[in-house]
Amino acid sequence: MGKTSKDKRDLYYRKAKEEGWRARSAFKLLQLNEQFDLFKDVKRVVDLCAAPGSWSQVLSREIFKDGTNEDAKIVAVDLQPMSPIDHVIELQADITHPKTLEKIMDIFDGEKADFVCSDGAPDVTGLHDLDEYIQAQLILSALQLATCILKNGGTFVAKIFRGRDIDLLYSQLGYLFEKVICAKPRASRASSLEAFIVCIGYKPREGWVPTLKPELSTEEFFQDMKIGRASLNKNLEFIDEERKVAPFIACGDLNSVDSDATYALDENFNSLSLDPIQSPTAPPYKKALELKRKGQLKITK
Ligand code: SAM
Repeated sequence: MGKTSKDKRDLYYRKAKEEGWRARSAFKLLQLNEQFDLFKDVKRVVDLCAAPGSWSQVLSREIFKDGTNEDAKIVAVDLQPMSPIDHVIELQADITHPKTLEKIMDIFDGEKADFVCSDGAPDVTGLHDLDEYIQAQLILSALQLATCILKNGGTFVAKIFRGRDIDLLYSQLGYLFEKVICAKPRASRASSLEAFIVCIGYKPREGWVPTLKPELSTEEFFQDMKIGRASLNKNLEFIDEERKVAPFIACGDLNSVDSDATYALDENFNSLSLDPIQSPTAPPYKKALELKRKGQLKITK
């Protein structure tokens, strides 16, 4: 598929290039912000799984926009290197590694964060159950890091996939935050299970000790809260598991373009194909391209 056909197929992809965003995901954060006013009074921000950097661009533009927030700090963490963005401190690191938290704390001089977001996605293996498990562990790592670094009242936003046990996760988050909402920006394709949890007002229950233990499963991480588990009482009566339901909100202006639709470029949009804003710095397919160029790529079936 050529660049122009993708421009037509996906107007957000096209608009991102026109407006200077490194990825179309920028619109998802912009639409979440329109709905929830996420960046108000925010000074310390952590953008997890940030490459190529469109969320960091949004954070930088929004938080520093009127020149009154010069002492704000944004840290962007990713396994991949990222090209520089104004006002953003890049950290090439693994969010599941405990040292990453220490490094962020050092950058913030021990101060806690007002806002932590994660748009993380692991490399897909194609094995559905394994992919779902790795994605769940990545969300858990982002959440663990957020609980260690957020100040009371802080906000956590993360990409999720609405799979089988997602209502259990909403319920568990409800014990850490005052409000938990599942939001679907219009820039996120309706046909995808992708959505975002917006957790507002960090307020863990008494006795909750934030920990970074990537080896724990989500169930083990929350087990001391005794939620999400059915049990029997002394009289062997069934006690249903405690679950909260997160409201679901579709966000983004109703006039926004539809991410599932195909638009004809010649009617409303310039039909020239645009180059990407930022080429990938170290994509996983870089070695394959080099080998292909040298005629040394062997494809095994
Ligand atoms: N929000 C980004 C933007 O707007 O440009 C896009 C993020 S991209 C969908 C997902 C990113 O998650 C990838 O860059 C990948 O390297 C990163 N990632 C996956 N696992 C990670 C980990 N354990 N630690 C840090 N980054 C990770």
